[in-house]
Amino acid sequence: MSLSTKSVTAVVPAKINLALAVGPVRVDGFHELATVYQAVGLFDEVTATRRNPGSGVTMTVAGPEADAVPCDATNLAWLAAEAVAAEADVVPDVHLHIVKRIPVAGGMAGGSADAAGALLACDILWRASLHRERMLELAADLGSDVPFLLHGGTAVGTGRGERITAAMARGSYHWVFALSDRGLSTPRVYAECDRLRAGAKVTEPVIPAGLMEALLAGDPARVGAELANDLQPAAISIRPELDMVLEIGRDAGALGAVLSGSGPTCAFLVADDEAALDLAVSLSASGLCSGVARAEGPVGGARLKDG
Ligand code: ATP
Repeated sequence: MSLSTKSVTAVVPAKINLALAVGPVRVDGFHELATVYQAVGLFDEVTATRRNPGSGVTMTVAGPEADAVPCDATNLAWLAAEAVAAEADVVPDVHLHIVKRIPVAGGMAGGSADAAGALLACDILWRASLHRERMLELAADLGSDVPFLLHGGTAVGTGRGERITAAMARGSYHWVFALSDRGLSTPRVYAECDRLRAGAKVTEPVIPAGLMEALLAGDPARVGAELANDLQPAAISIRPELDMVLEIGRDAGALGAVLSGSGPTCAFLVADDEAALDLAVSLSASGLCSGVARAEGPVGGARLKDG
C-alpha cells in the first residue's frame, strides 16, 4: 500500500445468532450472554477516503435504508475512525462512505459491521498497523458485536458477546431472512425481556451442547433443531406478528426458524437452494414481511475489497 493511498474499502458481513442465551443483568447494566454467532453473506461496504487537513470526519450512506442511518458522530463507523486516529496519533481527516445492504435495526448487527469495516479501512489508510489484539479491544469498546464482525466464521461469544472463540464448525448453511421495514430497538427488546422475566430466577447463560455437536458434525438438520434465542419471546411480545412469520417457515419445512438477535429479522435455515426459493415465495406471499433475503454462512469477517 503506497504512502499516497487515498482510499480504502472494507467489506463486512452481517451476523446471526444461532443461539443467544441471555443471563442476569451485570453491575455495568449489560446482560451476561452466551451466544453462537455466524457471519452470513449480506455485506456492507465502508470506504475511508483521505481528506485535506482540517476537514475532520464526514460521512455519506447509500442504499435503500440510507435515510435511517445517522451520518454523524453517533454512527459507530465514525467512532471507529476516531478510535483508530487516536491510536495512530493522526488527526481524523477522513470521509467515510457506507454502502448499506445489511438491514438497519434488524438484529443483524449492521452498525457494528460498519464499525468493524471502518476500523479495518482506517487502520490501512493511516498505516496504523494495529495489532490484532488491540484492534479487537477497540472493537469491544465500540460495541459487543464488533469483535465478532472482525473475526467472522462461526464463533462463541461470551461476556456481553465481545469475548470471541472460534467454534469447531463444519459445513455451509443456507439461510433465508424475512425482513421488516420497521426496525426494533435493541435496548427496548432487552427491557421487555427483563419485564417478562421479572421475579423469575435468571441463571447464568450456557452454550447449548447439542448445537456445538451439530456444528461439529456439520449437520444442518440438527443445527436447525437447536436454534434458540432468549430474546424471541420479548420481540414477539412487542411485535406479535413475528410469531406468525416464524410459523410460516416451520410450516414450509424449514430446518429451523429463529429470531435474529434482537429482531425483527427472522432467520430460517433450509436444506438447499430449492427449499430457499420455496420459502422465499411463501414469505413474500404472506404479506407479513417487507422483503426476503438469502445468504450462505459462514463467511469470513471484515476484509479489504479486492482491487
Ligand atoms: P444489533 O443487532 O447489533 O443490536 P441492529 O442490527 O439491530 O443491531 P443496527 O442496524 O446496528 O441495528 O442499528 C441500530 C441503530 O443504530 C439504528 O437505528 C441507527 O439509528 C443507529 N446506527 C448507528 N450507526 C449505524 C450504522 N453504521 N448503520 C446502521 N445503523 C446505525
